[in-house]
Amino acid sequence: MADAPLFDRVAIIGLGLIGSSIARAAKAGGLVGTLVAADRDAAVRARVAELGIADVVAESAAEAAEAADLVIVCTPVGACGAVAAEVGSRLKPGAILSDVGSVKGAVVRDMAPHVPPYATFVPAHPIAGTEDSGPDAGFAELFRGRWAILTPLSPADEGDVARLGGFWEGMGAMVDTMSVEHHDLVFAIVSHVPHLIAYNIVGTAADLEEVTQQEVIKYSASGFRDFTRIASSDPTMWRDVFLNNREAVLEILGRFVEDLTALQRAIRWGEGDTLFNLFTRTRAIRRSIVEQGQDTAAPDFGRRAAASAKD
Ligand code: NAP
Repeated sequence: MADAPLFDRVAIIGLGLIGSSIARAAKAGGLVGTLVAADRDAAVRARVAELGIADVVAESAAEAAEAADLVIVCTPVGACGAVAAEVGSRLKPGAILSDVGSVKGAVVRDMAPHVPPYATFVPAHPIAGTEDSGPDAGFAELFRGRWAILTPLSPADEGDVARLGGFWEGMGAMVDTMSVEHHDLVFAIVSHVPHLIAYNIVGTAADLEEVTQQEVIKYSASGFRDFTRIASSDPTMWRDVFLNNREAVLEILGRFVEDLTALQRAIRWGEGDTLFNLFTRTRAIRRSIVEQGQDTAAPDFGRRAAASAKD
């Protein structure tokens, strides 16, 4: 719990998984004086009021942004520009405008022109999430031990970047900074293309005529199940990610298809060493992820441990 709030008034626009998790974590950590929430969906606004995760539920983004020291746009990437246009002229002098979008280039292109010279725009992206959406899906611990990437624009206001970094650290995150372009390439390979592969394999399985849907579901534990979890992620969010990180995703997909063709060839020609060497390298990557605390070492992603705890 912080000794004093880092920001007197914080506005969150879009109270889905990420926005509602920030609201919960910021309140739990004593990081804000007054937390104001806004969402375009009246049902979400009503639910936020019911959950009591904001001090004030505003009718519009513009109203929420007024008098706020920090405004965080937590809508899907495709809506960030429109929200910035709505809140830009309402920002108070010295306010920080930020976002949580999974893509940075397009968000900067769409939001930055609406930020007045007396406010600062510091784009951000928390590397934490689940496949669920909406205000009920959020939880205060979501960012604990996870990275939050800031992509400050140049020239950056170092003081504001540090203040926003402190806010993320207060929610338990570890903070890193990188350029907008590098961010989009890194997350194309570690997040966007893996999601596309999951959507594609689940789609392929659903379309197979020789294997029944029932068989796919019944035997899913043999590998398919983990793809279905990723492929159940929010369709709006992910549509926006692919439309807005087109270049980096296409670049990585090109590499992926080349590598897949090489594997196809190795299988066709019985080149066992090629397969074995790749699988040995990839196993080491998994080990590093576990060693760095970014996943559990428990077998089956911890499902076995969780199941026996229930017995
Ligand atoms: P979500 O659960 O679907 O929540 C988004 C909320 O924003 C919804 O309540 C939505 O309302 C609202 N909204 C949409 N357009 C709006 C507008 N113009 N004005 C006000 N509210 C609006 O999405 P999320 O998973 O929290 O994702 C939000 C952002 O976080 C995205 O940019 C995503 O790229 C980023 N992100 C997500 C994850 C993840 O794993 N989910 C991780 C890191 C970053 P409607 O339902 O009416 O559309």
